[in-house]
Amino acid sequence: MKQIQSDIIIIGAGLTGLTLAYYLKKKGKSVTLLEKNHSAGGVIQTLKVGDFVYECGPNTGVLGNPELVQLFDDLQADCKLVTANPTAKRRFILKNAKWQALPSGPISAISTNLFTFSDKLRVFGEPFRKAGTNPYESVADLVKRRLGKSILDYAVNPFVSGVYAGNPEKLITKFALPKLYNLEQTYGSFIRGTMKKAKEPKSELEKRATKEVFSADGGLQNLIHALTKSISDRNILLNTKDIKVSKSDSGFKTSFLHENNFVEISSAKVITTIGAYALPEVLDFIPKAEFESISNLEYAKIIQVSLGYKTWKGVELQAFGGLIPAVENRSILGVLFPSSLFAGRAPQGGALLSVFMGGVLNPQLFDMSDEEVKALVLKEIAYLMQTSETPDMLKIFRYKNAIPQYTISSETRFAKISELEQKYEGLILAGNIRNGIGMADRVKQAVEIANSIA
Ligand SMILES: Cc1cc2nc3c(=O)[nH]c(=O)nc-3n(C[C@H](O)[C@H](O)[C@H](O)COP(=O)(O)OP(=O)(O)OC[C@H]3O[C@@H](n4cnc5c(N)ncnc54)[C@H](O)[C@@H]3O)c2cc1C
Repeated sequence: MKQIQSDIIIIGAGLTGLTLAYYLKKKGKSVTLLEKNHSAGGVIQTLKVGDFVYECGPNTGVLGNPELVQLFDDLQADCKLVTANPTAKRRFILKNAKWQALPSGPISAISTNLFTFSDKLRVFGEPFRKAGTNPYESVADLVKRRLGKSILDYAVNPFVSGVYAGNPEKLITKFALPKLYNLEQTYGSFIRGTMKKAKEPKSELEKRATKEVFSADGGLQNLIHALTKSISDRNILLNTKDIKVSKSDSGFKTSFLHENNFVEISSAKVITTIGAYALPEVLDFIPKAEFESISNLEYAKIIQVSLGYKTWKGVELQAFGGLIPAVENRSILGVLFPSSLFAGRAPQGGALLSVFMGGVLNPQLFDMSDEEVKALVLKEIAYLMQTSETPDMLKIFRYKNAIPQYTISSETRFAKISELEQKYEGLILAGNIRNGIGMADRVKQAVEIANSIA
């Protein structure tokens, strides 16, 4: 048996674990990162087939906070931040089986036929409507109360589907969209709050968190490569099997199988970044019953299909992509146009599309065979994108536990996480089981934990 000493063990080498390890190492801590897969990055993986460069997991992120801007600054020698072509500001929403542009300003908001006339009038009254008093109000109820049903159906439902692959009736605003919740609670209105916040003084880094759509030059995998290079291979153990953490007098002992060796590492701290469903087995010194309110976390199941066309003949693609409201009853959630956003994703004159299916509202689609998925996607794309071309590349990726749903169970989950962290000093339960699901949220959480430890 091999015995090692490390200040901190991090379990899971996705974006959260890697960012944590990167900053902890920078602060002089000895860190060992344990990953069960043969490569780091978690759901972030970029692949290349011929001239197509495509993402298997997240396609893009939002440059939503200063921590993310700082991370790209820190890694700039090995990885370049790219923001999307300005056409990304155009987004399509499907209504009556036709794409319509989502309004981008007051004039297009008045002329659009996505929303009813009475809901457009209601928007003008939003700053004067009373703030809600129910902290557990769903996203759907909040939007109906402040803005109207057609805005829920044709703006918020497709947005929630694009971010959470979730159900706005079940997601609780306070947990799933805390910024929106705080706008109403702090300023009394989304519109007044947004205007007031825009006038608040900002640091240089905050100004650079422009909310633009971003990737890394050459694909998000390059962000992962830059992180793994800085952390160093020595500190990242891939293909680790059977990880079990136990308590010791000085902290924790973590044992696992690695390259046919049984390894045991002593550390003062253990930080998990893995899914809620995987925690009971890894942290088996904690009674299973303690995890009930954590591991009952529901995840959206997602199928992503990447389609590559050497020449594109179909709907003009100068946009971010198209999202499909649930009321339209289609078999796909939406389609992104990555080759319109970033250079070098498809051959000249060609196109790369990324189609999403499933989610909380259509979990049964996840069980379809690859042949069935392919047939369904090609049928939907032929109709919605007006193309009769057969793609030159088609790849299917499945995520059984893609996106955690911040529903009513979130409060007890967050409370239990805090309780366990207090009870077992040195244990930190991180990852997207709390603090948000987007890549910017993942980086922010990692930075905050690294700062708190240092
Ligand atoms: C299909 C899809 C599309 C998405 N689209 C977007 C998007 O457009 N924009 C955006 O901002 N975000 C998006 N997200 C969300 C975002 O990608 C994730 O929230 C984020 O990358 C998660 O990072 P993580 O490190 O917390 O978790 P993960 O990436 O899940 O990493 C966890 C790691 O832990 C490892 N692990 C698990 N169990 C064990 C174990 N027992 N022992 C050892 N290791 C273990 C896993 O192998 C994995 O490498 C998307 C996610 C998916 C799945």
